[in-house]
Amino acid sequence: MSVKWGLIGASTIARQFMINAIRAQEGGEIAAVMSSNPQRATAYASENGIPAAVSTLDALLKSDIDAVYISTTNELHLEQALAAIAAGKHVLCEKPLALTSADARKMVAAARAAGIVLGTNHHLRNAGAHRAMRDAIASGRIGKPIAARVFHSVYLPENLQGWRITKPEAGGGVVLDITVHDADTLRFVLGDDPVEVSAFTQSAGMAGGGLEDGAMCIWRFKSGLIAQSHEGFTTKFAGTGFEVHGSEGSLIAGHVMTQKPDGSVLLRTVKGEEQLSFDREDLYVRSVRQFHAAILGKGRPAATGEDGVWSLTAAEAALQSASSGKAVKIDPKLGSMK
Ligand code: NDP
Repeated sequence: MSVKWGLIGASTIARQFMINAIRAQEGGEIAAVMSSNPQRATAYASENGIPAAVSTLDALLKSDIDAVYISTTNELHLEQALAAIAAGKHVLCEKPLALTSADARKMVAAARAAGIVLGTNHHLRNAGAHRAMRDAIASGRIGKPIAARVFHSVYLPENLQGWRITKPEAGGGVVLDITVHDADTLRFVLGDDPVEVSAFTQSAGMAGGGLEDGAMCIWRFKSGLIAQSHEGFTTKFAGTGFEVHGSEGSLIAGHVMTQKPDGSVLLRTVKGEEQLSFDREDLYVRSVRQFHAAILGKGRPAATGEDGVWSLTAAEAALQSASSGKAVKIDPKLGSMK
């Protein structure tokens, strides 16, 4: 089967990872790219060997494509996804799905009503490390999970120090950028959902316009597990990691909150220490593979639209908590609640 894709957004993430991931699939083809700027569209198409360049959504959606990958700035995702769904195109959308969880719910409802596949590009679920952690927990290797810690404070590369740290109206800030991923990865690895969050945010010198460039969140999950997560744009030397501590063992993973299939996962129990082995498949290749399968009616995207609603509701709740100074409840059906 061939799947013809249209790219909505002449973005860095598409250039660095997703164009390759689509072309790595059997039948995966990129037919066109849309940029709001005609010159950039043409230049991007020629640099990346894409046959057509367009500068309106209408032109892209009228073309002979099966699916769109949306990787524009965050305030544009809603309108572009709704238009693609209305045009009968399957949608793989970048996180956060929208600026508010209410808008993300509209996207999910529209896709469901139209029988369209909607996926959220939460790449970390596709990492072998996180899948190994999830399997170890699900098979009881650490007993009852009690607590988790996510270390995901990085240094935002200079080429990305644009809208993320200057434009609140584009959905900038570290919470919509990284906390959404951490909320999703916690849900995936633990097989549990967050019900409440308390968060502090900071502006440590990089972000302007009232945006935050650092966040620390404390989460309570349905099972009673508590978790902490640290997201940042300003820490050059921190490294990343993910730990889950249970009644019978601990999982300690290093260098796993990344875009590459890197890192290690250590299982520590009464029997001693064991390095878990896991596959090193490219995270984005796996994401597109599952999306193609979902289009064929075989399974679901790695992260569904509903998963995107969950992660955005959680991030929204973290932002509300940071501004109110109070813990905020998380309910994906209703949004975050003070
Ligand atoms: P970019 O800043 O690279 O691209 C976003 C938009 O900015 C593009 O669609 C483009 O608009 C415009 N743009 C890009 N380059 C230029 C330029 N040189 N001059 C002017 N405008 C430009 O964003 P990212 O690729 O970093 O992020 C895009 C989306 O992907 C976001 O939603 C982000 O949250 C998500 N993301 C997800 C990741 C993941 O691993 N899941 C990782 C990184 C980002 P136009 O299309 O109109 O030309």
